[in-house]
Amino acid sequence: MGEGVRHAEASGEQVFVQETVIDAMIAHALEDAPRECCGLLLGAGRRIARAVRTRNAQAGTTRYQINPEDHFAAIREARSLGLSIVGAYHSHPASAPIPSPRDLEDATHDFFYLIVSLVDPGRPEVRAFELKQGNCRPLRLDTVPVPAL
Ligand SMILES: [Zn+2]
Repeated sequence: MGEGVRHAEASGEQVFVQETVIDAMIAHALEDAPRECCGLLLGAGRRIARAVRTRNAQAGTTRYQINPEDHFAAIREARSLGLSIVGAYHSHPASAPIPSPRDLEDATHDFFYLIVSLVDPGRPEVRAFELKQGNCRPLRLDTVPVPAL
């Protein structure tokens, strides 16, 4: 992606996320802080039903890279559940839940990106984005009770 990526206004589009997914992402972010945590999101269409933890292949506190073995394991888990990998999540232990320039460079199209910010650890904040036509678009994140699928 890189240079062409711009931040667009909220598109009004939504992604539906099971409450258990939100809880799982926040728990993972808190456990791994001050390092960034990361994981993959399983679902179908615009619904996210499951968060799968992956190891962060980057040792720092401001980047993430999903461990390739864990990525394959998540693909197998998705298939076994009749789901697809529809997105990824990671944490921002000390910054707002907004994609960094590096996040945008690494991002792929038609994938949801959820970011958990721990700026206020007592009140973690989760936001959702997707890349479409070179734009990084914030999405409305609607939580849905289990089961969503
Ligand atoms: Zn990030």
